[in-house]
Formats: sequence, C-alpha cells, structure tokens
Amino acid sequence: MISVEEALDKVLSCVEILEPERKPILECLGQVLAEDVYSTIDIPPLDNSAMDGYALRAEDTREATESSPRYLVVVGEVAAGSMPIKKVEPGTAIRIMTGAPLPEGADTVVKFEDTDEVSRKSSRKDLSQIGILCQANKGLNVRCRGEDIARGNLILQKGTVLRPQEIGVLASLGFSTALVIRRPIVAILATGDELIGVDQPLPPGKIYNSNTYTIAAAVSRYGGIPRILGIGRDSVQSLTEKIAEGLDADMLITSGGVSKGDYDMVKDVLAEQGEIGFWTVCMKPGKPIAFGVIKKVEGRKKRKVPHLGLPGNPVSSMITFEQFARPAILKMMGKKVLAKPTVRAIIEDDIASTDARRLFARVVVTNRGGRYHASVTGPQGSGMLTSMVKANGLAVIPESSNGAKAGDMVEVQMLDWGEEQGEVRRLPLVSIVGKSQSGKTLLMEQLIAEFKKRGYKVAAVKHSHGEMEIDHRGKDSWKFSQAGSDAVCISSPDKLAFIKNLDRELSIEEIMPIIGPGFDLVLAEGFKKSKIPKIEVHRKELGDDLLCSPEGLSAIVTDASLETLIADGRKPPVFRWGDTVAIADFIEKSFVLNR
Ligand code: AMP
Ligand code: MG
Repeated sequence: MISVEEALDKVLSCVEILEPERKPILECLGQVLAEDVYSTIDIPPLDNSAMDGYALRAEDTREATESSPRYLVVVGEVAAGSMPIKKVEPGTAIRIMTGAPLPEGADTVVKFEDTDEVSRKSSRKDLSQIGILCQANKGLNVRCRGEDIARGNLILQKGTVLRPQEIGVLASLGFSTALVIRRPIVAILATGDELIGVDQPLPPGKIYNSNTYTIAAAVSRYGGIPRILGIGRDSVQSLTEKIAEGLDADMLITSGGVSKGDYDMVKDVLAEQGEIGFWTVCMKPGKPIAFGVIKKVEGRKKRKVPHLGLPGNPVSSMITFEQFARPAILKMMGKKVLAKPTVRAIIEDDIASTDARRLFARVVVTNRGGRYHASVTGPQGSGMLTSMVKANGLAVIPESSNGAKAGDMVEVQMLDWGEEQGEVRRLPLVSIVGKSQSGKTLLMEQLIAEFKKRGYKVAAVKHSHGEMEIDHRGKDSWKFSQAGSDAVCISSPDKLAFIKNLDRELSIEEIMPIIGPGFDLVLAEGFKKSKIPKIEVHRKELGDDLLCSPEGLSAIVTDASLETLIADGRKPPVFRWGDTVAIADFIEKSFVLNR
C-alpha cells in the first residue's frame, strides 16, 4: 500500500502538458495561455474624458467658486466615438461626454455638477456660455492615453489561466483568438454486471450506473472533455473491447472492478495490456484503486494512455477522482496549482480512524465568527452518495493519527472552491529575526518606510513575549476587559483595534487570516521558530554565531565582514547592515513579485 502522495506522484509522472491550440477567446475560459500577449495599441488610445462635463484649460478655472463663477465661451461639443473638431483656446470650453477624446488645447474636464449648466437650462439661459463653479487642478477627470495598457508592453504572460477579465483584456486589445493548452479528452467507462443505464427500467438485482455521470460532470468541471464509453461487463473480453474504444483519449477512467471480488478484473486487463503502477493506496475510502498505462500502437508510433481505475463505490470513486484524476487533468491543461484548496477548520464531531489509512470525512464547513467549523455529514458509508451531496468539504484525517476529537483543528479540502481559489494570492510574509538588541526593530522601521515609499500597503506583526501594553489601564476598553469580556474591539473613524484574550499563543499562520487581505506585504518581527521566510539581523558585537541555522534563513543582514559569514557556498545571501534599499529589493523580488 502506498501513500496518497506517492500515488499522486506516480499519476502525475505519467501525464504530460498537452499541445496548444488556437481558438476563439470565448471558448478559452479556464484554459492556460500558451503564448505571451503583447499590446499593439495604447489603451485608452487617446487622452479622453472620465466624466460628462466641459473640457477646458485648468488655468481658466482659477479662483472660480459658486458665488463667483468663471465664465467660458462654449465652442462645441464632442461625444464618445467622434473626434473633436475645434480646439480649446483660452477662455473657451467644449462640452464633452465620458469616453470622448480630449480636444486639443484642453487639459482638464470639469463635470456638469460643477458648472451652472443645470440652472442655465432651467432658467432657459444662453448655453453658449458656461459658468465654472470651482477651481480644477490640471488633469482632473482626464484619462491619459496608454494609462491602462501601453503599446508594446507584455500584458498577459504565457501560463496565465484565462478568467473573464483576461478574456476581456484580450478583446480590448483586439484579439479574437488566443493560443491555449488544449483540454484533455477523458474516456469514462463504468464496469459491472449489475449496472444498467439511466434510460432503462430497473430490473431486480440491478442498479443504475451513476458513476459515469459523476465522473463526467467532474471532468467537465475541471476543464476536461468527457467521452462516455458506456458500461463494460465483468468479463475480460467485454472490458478489453470497451477499453480499446477509449484509447485515443488522453486519459481513461474506469470505475469498479478493482477490489478483490471474483469479478473484479479491471486490474487483470490493465496488467495484460499495459503496466500497473499501483493498485492500493493508503486512504479511506478508496483503498482499492488501480493506476497504470495502457500501451497503444498507432502505426509506427507507440502511445501510452494513463488509466485510472477508480473503485466502484460512488463515494470512493468521487473522492479518489478528486485526489488523483483532478490533478492529472489540471496538469494536462498546463495548470500549475494542482492541489485542492484547503482551509483549517475546527472539527465539531469525534472522528474515529483505526486502520492507519488517511481518512477523508465528508463535512459541512461553515464560517462562524471568522473561523471555519466542520461537521460530519452523518453516515459515511462509501456507497452513500448523499453524504457527498450534503458535504462541501472533505476533512483529511492523517494516517498517523487515531482520528480527531471534537475541537481539534483539521485540514479540509473544499469541494466547491474553484481551482482559482488555490491560486489566491497569499499575502507575502517575511519575518525579521535576530538576537535581542540586534536591531530588528530598527530594520523593521526602515523596511516599512522603504516599502511605503514604493507604494506598498504594509502590515507589521510584532511577536511579543511579555504583556501587551496597548490595553491601557483606566481606558474604557480596559474596563470592558476587566469586567470579563473575552475580546474588546475599539473602532474610531480612522483606526480599528481588536484585543482578544487567548488561552494559547497563535502561530503566525493563524494570525495571517486575521490580518486579512488588502495588504501587499506583511513584515513580522520575531517568530524565529516558524517556517515562514526569515531574514536574520546579525551584529558582530553580539557574537559570531547566528540565532537561526542558515539553511532556514532567506537572507542575513550583518555589520560583520561579509567573508566570515559567506564562507559556506550554501548560505543565504548576505546584506550589509544599513543597506535597506538592497534588502527591500531582495524582499520585493523574492517574495512579492516572484511568487
Ligand atoms: P466494485 O468496485 O466493482 O466491486 O463495486 C463496488 C460497489 O460499487 C458495488 O456495490 C457496485 O454495485 C457499486 N458500483 C460499481 N460501479 C458503479 C456505478 N457505475 N454506479 C453506481 N454504483 C456502482
Ligand atoms: Mg464490480
């Protein structure tokens, strides 16, 4: 019996990224771009107005107010889609609509609401003049040529998964087709003498073939093209014939016929026609699962078709599909993130696991008070497909454990989160570590200032060993917490603080979701024992040794001579103490841009 990871490695080593195809952009949703896309135009192509209003020279609005407007002569009008005929000369304005090109001579647009147009219209005044009611800064409401996309720039990189917004960008650049990695064709065969098609009446002793439909739907969901081969009977001949029909696909998935029963012959056929890679995996449900490659001779060429023989039980077949077929399909499509998106959740029921296999429990995940909770969906028989219908997650109970107790934290694979969620940008996080008095805080301050200068939104986390000094004695928040509240939140117009009592210290990984999105970079001070990227500040007056072992460090900052520290070639990059710009460049390049 091999582990889930070993089994997945074997499956993935037998599937390749498929060739690219060029097709209409609307058919490319979810596919991976196989070429770099450069812009041949500027977007917007011309300076244009972001508002309905008047195009004018900012200079001509100087000191304008509601009580003393500046009056300009209206010399024309320009709508989106047409070109202005007239120029804006000093003392004049042109009425302009959103998206219309900015007339020559104008540098600013003042929106209707900041003019006297409405009152002029209602009092039937002359519209050949307009009163400007406020002073405008040059460039106001003007969208500059090329401000979104500049001609010649790389806009979408090869490898990008095309979402609606990427498809829109392709359209805005005037591309009607794109080169993408093609979708894999997945042949699907159900096996078993007991199976009958859904369009037939149900005779005694038979059951409807449901696996074909679950599997085909899952293939489509993950971007493949299902090819249904029907039902194979429990005989070597029937299976061999049916399997042969599926061999021009990119992958073959069968269900049933892989356990130890007398009629379970999928693996025999696989052994005869190809090579078995494995057929039992240390997981529950889904222990009997076969994988191998079937050899196919096409003229003079030999082809190997990966074959995944899923167990027949509907739940087992679905769960093994998720663990092995899904990543294989994604890899063939050129995707890089193959893992199922997961969350850490508090399990609400005891889950027993006695046979040292990795258990996938069907659970319902809810988010309550900012934390995920998972409760088991009831009876977990591997024939009960309704346990999957109720579930939105699979709690993964490690083979090394005896199960989980209610209240434990468990990892849950989210069934319905798109694979895009797996690609959700993780907030870049770097921690500055070092001995006490090494200057960690000073480096933090310098880095924060440097990243602010570069336009980043930075969050900082301080690891404090002692008491926290923000819960000031005598303040209302302190009074609330003295009265016994477990958390106190203080909200003001420009700041929010949340102070919560804990019964144990949180890891930095647990702190990150609390920081939430909306930042470009999180800089932490301390957390030397965590596995996050760390940069150690080393000061020669505190000794030659480092606090952390160099293998666990992303970089070292020191005021000692560099040579003493870089003797060993495997050591991380070393920066000079005080060279904040170079350190920030390193962090930016390694953790922010190059993820
Ligand atoms: P097997 O792995 O062939 O021994 O099948 C295990 C269990 O799954 C048996 O109870 C089968 O009846 C059931 N089963 C197998 N294939 C299907 C299918 N295509 N649809 C629904 N149930 C199935
Ligand atoms: Mg069977």
